[in-house]
Amino acid sequence: MAEQPGFGFMEPFALRGPFPSGAPAIFIDQVARLGQECGLISCVGRDDFGTMNIERLRQDGVDVSAIQVSADHATGSAFVRYRPDGERDFVYNIRNAACGQTQLTDDAFRLLDDARHFHVMGSSLFSFRIIHAATTALRRVKENGGTISFDPNIRKEMLDIPEMRAAMEMMLQYCDIFLPSGPELMMLTEANTEDDAVREILGLGVKEIVVKRGSRGASYYSADQTLHLPPFMAEEIDPTGAGDCFGATFVTCRLQGHMPEQSLRYANASGALAVSVRGPMEGVSTFQQLDAVIAQAVGVA
Ligand code: ADP
Repeated sequence: MAEQPGFGFMEPFALRGPFPSGAPAIFIDQVARLGQECGLISCVGRDDFGTMNIERLRQDGVDVSAIQVSADHATGSAFVRYRPDGERDFVYNIRNAACGQTQLTDDAFRLLDDARHFHVMGSSLFSFRIIHAATTALRRVKENGGTISFDPNIRKEMLDIPEMRAAMEMMLQYCDIFLPSGPELMMLTEANTEDDAVREILGLGVKEIVVKRGSRGASYYSADQTLHLPPFMAEEIDPTGAGDCFGATFVTCRLQGHMPEQSLRYANASGALAVSVRGPMEGVSTFQQLDAVIAQAVGVA
């Protein structure tokens, strides 16, 4: 076969993707990978993006019955920008997209009534409609004796939406497990030090705080326990989604009866695996994979 001029320098490239994304979807996909029954309440458009999202989650074992399909709105989208300093930011089209239309349908209430835990992703709280739906949902789960986790997942691009901050503060009144990054922990309190911020949030009735610290590992705080665990060694290829995998793993472990230290260790392993794979949702992992990371690893201090 004739050589193709101009392409000889390119490395062989296996086409991969397109990769779906979205913090709530990554979170719930990770929960499903760990073998936990789970479902997602959301809304997509009647378009190829929506179909691909639903199919991916369905294949991975997520109950998709409460994902509505809007004929009038396109699936929400986000573009990620990788900055030279390693930071990322996002450009969203969600306010007027299908996800902004999410409602609590009969299917959603069925899911909620079966649930013993409900997770809220702060980046979803971008409109009154969603805030109302999330609050109704979490009250329902709480009334049924369930627990709540909350990851503020603050996107600075969204912070100019005034109702978001109030909604996040309200979530803290309800949540049992709070999953911020270090800066988010400070942003949502009046405190000047992290110790004071932890005290303030535990004082609100939050039972467990898990602070994600990127390549520095993670910390855990409750009324009677403080833990700091180093990360597992990983080559960081794509950090998108690591916090979602981490949070999903911690919450699932706690629901399955693991103690805080083992849950934090599994969550750290899950974050390390997530950053080492390209694609936001492609770094999700099973317990078998997490056990292998833990068995092999020497933590880096
Ligand atoms: P987010 O995606 O919310 O910004 P982080 O970047 O803090 O979250 O990552 C979540 C978790 O993933 C960390 O607490 C850590 O356990 C793990 N992690 C993140 N980056 C690395 C890394 N470079 N090496 C090993 N583990 C990492």
